[in-house]
Amino acid sequence: MADITIPAELLPADGRFGCGPSKVRSEQLADLAAAARILGTSHRQAPVKRLVGDVRAGISELFRLPEGYEVVLGNGGSTAFWDVAAAGLITRRSAHLDFGEFGSKFVASASAPWLETPHVVHTPGGTRGTLELVDGVDVYAYPHNETSTGVSAPVQRFGTAPDALTVVDATSAAGGIDFDVAETDVYYFAPQKNFAGDGGLWIALMSPAAIERAYAIAATDRYIPPFLSLTAAIDNSRLDQTLNTPALSTLVLLDSQLRWMNASGGLAWAASRTAESSTHLYDWATAHALATPYVVDPAHRSPVVVTIDFDESVDAARLAAVLRANGIVDTEPYRKLGRNQLRIATFVAVEPDDVRQLTRSIDYVLEALAG
Ligand SMILES: *Cc1c(COP(=O)(O)O)cnc(C)c1O
Repeated sequence: MADITIPAELLPADGRFGCGPSKVRSEQLADLAAAARILGTSHRQAPVKRLVGDVRAGISELFRLPEGYEVVLGNGGSTAFWDVAAAGLITRRSAHLDFGEFGSKFVASASAPWLETPHVVHTPGGTRGTLELVDGVDVYAYPHNETSTGVSAPVQRFGTAPDALTVVDATSAAGGIDFDVAETDVYYFAPQKNFAGDGGLWIALMSPAAIERAYAIAATDRYIPPFLSLTAAIDNSRLDQTLNTPALSTLVLLDSQLRWMNASGGLAWAASRTAESSTHLYDWATAHALATPYVVDPAHRSPVVVTIDFDESVDAARLAAVLRANGIVDTEPYRKLGRNQLRIATFVAVEPDDVRQLTRSIDYVLEALAG
């Protein structure tokens, strides 16, 4: 490949645009260094429990948690939470919006032998459907943001029965899109996306109804593997602990990001920042002769994960490789989507100015590749 060097004045100050793990701000690393004395100490002692308590309080503040909702956390990331939910949140049957890889992975977990076959509304990549009331369904589930395609869904109760729970995978949306928590019963995520932490934890905002459901299922004779026990996670979270050892540095990075977001203006501020970055990219792609937003319906376009298709005269994989060689990393599309595409995270930690530099850099590379 002929070397293409992007002029320094066109480069973003930080070239990390990946959808997870994603950019960690240098201020967070300074906070990590400052917290060095608690790294390597017991998670059952006051200093680490205080840190977990601060994280839970910071999340409650950011999401303006309604009365009675609780912040629950455990180990294993969002992927573990799918199995936690299958083991201890779904009573009989779930219904799912499946519009990409992550939505379909929850369907796989919810297809457990002790549950009835899930009701699934599947739509092709780049689109999404809607859920309606289905008899006998007690959990309605969908991703707030489908990271594999860059499609988002509004957080709302899609025609659910009174005692059914709305369970939202917010792994890549949480902290980057404003919404009303009262519209959900379980809003779960992991820290390695908008919260600019590392992977390994799951965090769930749980309504009183969801908490009640977890204890009701735990009281039945269903076998629940101890590591997947939602009630064990709730019991431990109430004590500012986790069932087993958490990664302390992840908690420090998460706490640092929460403080920054809350001090800067909270969720509304964070959402305006991701909207500024993503709008720039969608406008750029719409105006460009060789690019177009992958998600056709503007109402479905994600403000935190932007997917841009390129004309067949452009080799997007080559474009991403040239960007990578110039320090602009992780703009490749989701591997299984198989499109001639770039996928760019516009999470809160990403500077809108860096997104503007990114399109200048892409313009430069496109010209060089064409020339
Ligand atoms: C990243 C992601 C996941 C997986 O998160 P892990 O913490 O790696 O398990 C799940 N759902 C969505 C929407 C994601 O973006």
